[in-house]
Amino acid sequence: MSVLIKGGRIVTAADDYVGDVYVENESVSLIGESLDVSADRVIEAAGKYVLPGAIDPHTHLEMFFGGTTTCDDFTSGTVSAAFGGTTCLVDFCMQAPGTSFAQALENYFEKIDRCKPVIDVGFHIGVTDLREGGSLEELATLPDRGVTSYKLFMAYKGAVMVDDETLFRTMRTAADTGALVMVHAENGDAIDIIVKEAVAAGHTEPVWHARTRPPETEGEATNRAIQLARVAGAPLYVVHVSCQEAIEPIDLAREKGWDVWGETCTQYLFLDESALDQPGFEGGKYIYTPPPRPKENQELLWRALRGDVLSVVSTDHCPFKWPEQKAVNGEEFQKVPNGGPGIENRLHMLHEFGVRTGRMSLNRFVELTSTNVARRFGLYPRKGTIAPGSDADIVVWDPEKKLTVSAKTHHSNVNYNLFEGTEVTGAPEVVLVRGQVIVEHDELVAQPGAGQFVKRAKVGEELTPAEKVPA
Ligand SMILES: [Zn+2]
Repeated sequence: MSVLIKGGRIVTAADDYVGDVYVENESVSLIGESLDVSADRVIEAAGKYVLPGAIDPHTHLEMFFGGTTTCDDFTSGTVSAAFGGTTCLVDFCMQAPGTSFAQALENYFEKIDRCKPVIDVGFHIGVTDLREGGSLEELATLPDRGVTSYKLFMAYKGAVMVDDETLFRTMRTAADTGALVMVHAENGDAIDIIVKEAVAAGHTEPVWHARTRPPETEGEATNRAIQLARVAGAPLYVVHVSCQEAIEPIDLAREKGWDVWGETCTQYLFLDESALDQPGFEGGKYIYTPPPRPKENQELLWRALRGDVLSVVSTDHCPFKWPEQKAVNGEEFQKVPNGGPGIENRLHMLHEFGVRTGRMSLNRFVELTSTNVARRFGLYPRKGTIAPGSDADIVVWDPEKKLTVSAKTHHSNVNYNLFEGTEVTGAPEVVLVRGQVIVEHDELVAQPGAGQFVKRAKVGEELTPAEKVPA
């Protein structure tokens, strides 16, 4: 099977030029001007952008959390991602406390076998327990299986939170095995005290979700993780940075040349804490963590993205239906499963409010949503760029296409949208995963199972185009 994408504006993190892209089987074989080749399929792309498929390194599909399970599995979640121009995601394979990492992986491989994702999928391992079930020895074997990142939660006390001993031991192991350490950075002990006091005083409305998680608790944990990673000699990636208090220590670490990266998520650029402060329980829709912050943080996050203090925008897609799942334990903020949806609209929102407003270049848009993710998570240069030999994960993007973001039209199973009613100009027209067209003109045309598990490279290594996906 061959595909010729003709006359589009090819935009990578580094380049921006008009040309043809010729795809044979799963990869890009040739790029040039007016290529004289015959193809099984020709896609006319004049006036369109030809972008490397976006990669989302932060999703929670079919995850049991807070007494319920996120409402997108690896079918609906990957379909929704595909409609938004995302062609690969890396999900959190969570270790259930008391069980081994092998069991966690077996559980997640079963999910993708059953769900037949339409885009490629990798896994981070979520480390929750090194005392019973999981061991450092076992953790050390995972990078050889292509699971090259360890995620730890410094919050959610009594659930998935780890103590500093577990965090530090995991960091040391990562330093030895070539894995990346990812942290959810909030001080869970302090937050637990503040939450209990608020609840005891009768404050259970959704807005108290933000009031009980002060930005300083995120700043403190971010700094603690950075310093511990420094001692352990491990690379660090701080997920969902939401506020200036967390930006500052990352900025300082990067200035010093330490191997520290920060990520923010679409919602932190657009929603502020007033979303939680609505009549009744309506604000419960916006209970995700860290919480929506005071509005002044938004401009600071955009600035951090411009200056490469923050290097990735992900979604932290963690969808629970409203109100039945969000209120499954009752209408009190501390009982609400934390998480919000967004897997489909990351590019729509960043293109509209980043690129079209002049806040960022098209190259930076590609870098933040694809290339940097590929680089940091062991997928580059097989993914994250359009180059001879790279996977033909390609989005033909129509910069003039108008779309109203809405739960009525999105493809996730979740029944609300954080950006409901937002009008954007610019959306995918055709999406390819390894040379297969999966979405075309708002139709899903993928065969179930078009996506595969991706075995990722270790820190400092490249996933060479020649490396084939294991059967
Ligand atoms: Zn998350």
